[in-house]
Amino acid sequence: MKPRKVENLKDWDDNHPKLRHLQSSKLKMMQVFKFGGASVNSVERVKNVADILQSYKDQPLLIVVSAMGKTTNALEKVAEAFYAGNQQEALLLFEQVKQQHLTTAKYLLVTQYLACEAQLKDFFTEVEWLLHDDPVREFDYYYDQIVCAGELLSTAIVSHYLNEAGLNCAWMDVRDILRTDDNFRDANIDREFTQQKVTEIIRPVLDSGRIVLTQGFIGATDENESTTLGREGSDYSAAVFSNMLHAERLTIWKDVDSVMNADPKEITDALPIAELNYTEVIEMAYYGAQVIHPKTIKPLQNQDIPLQVKSFLNPALPGTIIHRCSIKNLPPIIVIKRNQVMIELKTKDFSFIGEHSTEMLYEWFEKLFITPTLTQNGAVSIVYAFDHKQEKISQFAAEAAQYFDVQVTPGLTLLTIRHYDPAAIEKYCGAQSFFVKQQTAQNFRVLYQAAAH
Ligand code: ASP
Ligand code: MG
Repeated sequence: MKPRKVENLKDWDDNHPKLRHLQSSKLKMMQVFKFGGASVNSVERVKNVADILQSYKDQPLLIVVSAMGKTTNALEKVAEAFYAGNQQEALLLFEQVKQQHLTTAKYLLVTQYLACEAQLKDFFTEVEWLLHDDPVREFDYYYDQIVCAGELLSTAIVSHYLNEAGLNCAWMDVRDILRTDDNFRDANIDREFTQQKVTEIIRPVLDSGRIVLTQGFIGATDENESTTLGREGSDYSAAVFSNMLHAERLTIWKDVDSVMNADPKEITDALPIAELNYTEVIEMAYYGAQVIHPKTIKPLQNQDIPLQVKSFLNPALPGTIIHRCSIKNLPPIIVIKRNQVMIELKTKDFSFIGEHSTEMLYEWFEKLFITPTLTQNGAVSIVYAFDHKQEKISQFAAEAAQYFDVQVTPGLTLLTIRHYDPAAIEKYCGAQSFFVKQQTAQNFRVLYQAAAH
């Protein structure tokens, strides 16, 4: 097949000559909202979205929505069953996804139900048609064709409901706008084409005073194959559209009151943070804080578009604002990642671990969709920690065993404290004995054996 990689505009250089002439002028008060899976997960929550939007309806708005609740996970299972040759199971699992969406639509909609049902059925057919075939291409291709249905179904339901609620909303299939290469499951955006479509298709609808509602996370190739941008990619889609429309701000509506200095489920005295800068958020996301998808920041930062994180349950709360600013006196930021596995690789012949081996290792990571959460280099050995995805880790360990002595230690926890002080170290990892400890001026990290419960 001919290569269709997009020209690498990944660095998000807004002054690229190919982009400049395609950009549209700034639209006053234009905002982008992103609603994640949890915010559209039930009849009540979709109604809540409409309530929130009532206060913004006199200004240009683009809304990006994810798949409802755990739909993406459910569709992943459909794709796996299909690819394993279990067609009946795949159809059965898909049937559950269908019924959930039809039920939500039925409870939510009155006048728009039939129109919505017709749209949902079109998407069902797209997937079922594929499920009746036998897989002949690579898994990642099928994954994207199936998993993209989650966003198409949720946005169809939400947009019909918004119209019923009197919000004049235009649903758009983002696959006509957001073009990517064919790097399925982690597609790269063709910025030139996408910018052109944003200016041609989205902008006039916003100018006419209608709300535009579209899907996050998905796109399409130049051959109209669906693609996805990587798990949790809707934040990224929303940031890309904010950039291309020169939005005044992007708001991500979440099921938390604001960004906190730790996960309140882990640390009961976690503190809300009112203001952060872009760098801090990229760092937090990198170390594993479940705040915002790390790719989200760059398109925003390039244009100084503030990112607001707000609670969809308590919209009156101020939330967190992330923008260009210098911030002093941040509290220690604590990120705890559980279920980590440590893999220690030692060269078999006592040779140094050089560029060649590292390059090979990173190629495997990319192929297996695993990313080290911690790296520690030695002369003849290297240590990685990963989220413990059993199957992938075993596969990685098996491949690595051809070249290295491999030692695998599961059941670990990785703790990162940014802006640490002695009190924080004492409080959060006082008595732990550790496997790896790393310390820089900003960060304190330990990989340790979690206490048995
Ligand atoms: N629905 C996709 C996922 O769950 C994308 C997103 O929610 O951001 O990964
Ligand atoms: Mg999500």
